[in-house]
Amino acid sequence: MSLSAKSLPVVVIAGRPNVGKSTLFNRLAGRRYAIVSDQPGVTRDRKSVDIMLQNRAVTLMDTAGWEEDDPQTVFGRMRESSERAVDCADVIIFCVDARAGITPVDEHFAQWLRKQGRKIVLVANKAEGHAGNIAALEMYSFGLGEPIPVSAEHGEGMVDLVDAVLERLPEETPLDFSEDEEESDRPLRLAIVGRPNAGKSTLINQLLGEQRVITGPEAGLTRDSIAVLLKDDVGEVELVDTAGLRRKARIDETLEKMSVSASIEALKMAEVVVLVIDAELGVHEQDLQIARLVEREGRCCVIALNKWDILENRDEVRQNIKDRIEMSLSQMNGIAVVSFSALTGRGVHKLLPAVRRAYEIWNKRIPTGALNRWFEEALTRHAPPMVDGRRLKIRYITQAKARPPTFILFGTRTSKLPMDYQRYLVNGMRATFDMPGTPIRLQFRDSK
Ligand code: GDP
Ligand code: GDP
Repeated sequence: MSLSAKSLPVVVIAGRPNVGKSTLFNRLAGRRYAIVSDQPGVTRDRKSVDIMLQNRAVTLMDTAGWEEDDPQTVFGRMRESSERAVDCADVIIFCVDARAGITPVDEHFAQWLRKQGRKIVLVANKAEGHAGNIAALEMYSFGLGEPIPVSAEHGEGMVDLVDAVLERLPEETPLDFSEDEEESDRPLRLAIVGRPNAGKSTLINQLLGEQRVITGPEAGLTRDSIAVLLKDDVGEVELVDTAGLRRKARIDETLEKMSVSASIEALKMAEVVVLVIDAELGVHEQDLQIARLVEREGRCCVIALNKWDILENRDEVRQNIKDRIEMSLSQMNGIAVVSFSALTGRGVHKLLPAVRRAYEIWNKRIPTGALNRWFEEALTRHAPPMVDGRRLKIRYITQAKARPPTFILFGTRTSKLPMDYQRYLVNGMRATFDMPGTPIRLQFRDSK
C-alpha cells in the first residue's frame, strides 16, 4: 500500500510574506526528507507535497501564493489564504522573520492563529549565526510557546523543528485501514436529541432496560443524570449529555429554545446524533433546525421516528418525513431512518445497529487510487462549468480526513466552484463510495 493510500496528517507552513515560508517548504521537502509521493499538479507549484519527517509521512502545505502589497490589507489576505489550509491542518508551522523582528501583522496573525485551536510550532527563521535572538525572545509574547530558531536557507535548526512537529502530530494510525481504527478502544459517543416530548427519556429508559430516568407528559420533568453507558453484544455506547437533555427550562427561556440549545451542547460531545422525532406530529421546523446543526457541526445522524405504536398510515408518514428532511438538507441524503416505539420497546433494537453503521460511514476513508479514478470519470462526464467566462480547473482531489469525510480539491479558482457542481461531486462520492447520510466536506486549494 502506498503511503498516500490513506490521508496523512497535514502540516501547514503559515506566516506573512517574505519570512521564508517557501524556503522552509523546500528545505523540508528537499532531499534530506525523501519525497515519497508527489501529487501531479500540486508539487509543480510547490503547494503541497507528501514527505517523510523522520519516520512519519505527512502532507506538507505552503500557504504562500501572493505578493506583499498594501500593509492595510496584508493581514486580511493572509487570513484568507491561510484559512482553508489551517482548517485542515494538524500542525501549523508559524514562521516569523527573526531578523526583521515582530511586525504588527505577525502579531495580528498570531492572535488569530491562537484562536484556531490547532497545534502550533512557532519558528524564528533567518536566525543563522544567532541572528534574531532578541526577536525570538519577543516571540514568547505570542503565547504560542517557545520559538524555535532556524535558518531555512542554511538548514539550521531543522532537527529541532522536525521534533517539535512530530511531537504535535496526532497519534499514528495503522497503515492498513480498518473502519474502526480510530480510538476503537473508546465507546462510541452518542447524543439523543429532539424536541421536548419527542420521547427521548423514554427511549433512553428503553435502551437501558430499566427505569432510571423519570419521564412524563410535562417536558423537562426528568432528573439530573448520571453518565450512561449502553452495552450490547457488539460493544459499548456512551450516551452524552443526558443532563442537558433534562435541564429544566428557565422561566425566560421557552422550551423550544431550550431544546435547541441543549442539543448544541450534546452535539459538541457526540460523534453520532440520534434525532428523535415524534412521528405523530411529523417534522417540525425545530427538528430541521437541530438537523442543520448536526450537519454544520459535521456529526453523523440517525433519524428516529418515535411513537410508531400510535400511527396508522406508517409508510406514508415515513416517506413524508424522509422527503422533508432530505429536501431541506442535501447533506442528509440517504440518511438512516429508524422507526420504533420507545414506549413499548418495539423496533428499538434497530437503533444501535443503525448508529454503528452511520458511525462507520462517518469514519470512512477512501483509498486515493479509487478516489482519483472516480474523480477523473466525474470530471469527464460533467466538466466543471465556466465561471466569469473562464474554465475552472480542478486537478486533484485528496481526502484530508474522516469524521466527517473531508476532501480537498486542488486546482485553479476551485473556490469559485458553483454550489450545484459541488453537490454533483458530493452526491457522486456518496453514491460511488456508499456514504449515505453523512456530511461530506469539500475544501479548496487554489494555486495561482
Ligand atoms: P515566503 O514569501 O514567506 O515564502 O518567503 P521566501 O521563502 O520566498 O523567502 C523570502 C526571502 O527570505 C528570500 O529572499 C529568502 O532567500 C530569504 N530567506 C529565507 N530563509 C532565510 C534564512 O534562513 N536566512 C536568511 N538570511 N534569509 C532567508
Ligand atoms: P422527552 O421530553 O423527549 O424526554 O420525552 P419523554 O420521554 O418524556 O416522553 C414524552 C411523552 O411521550 C411521555 O408521556 C411518554 O410516555 C410519551 N411517549 C414516549 N415514547 C412514546 C411512544 O413510543 N409511544 C407513545 N404512544 N408515547 C410515547
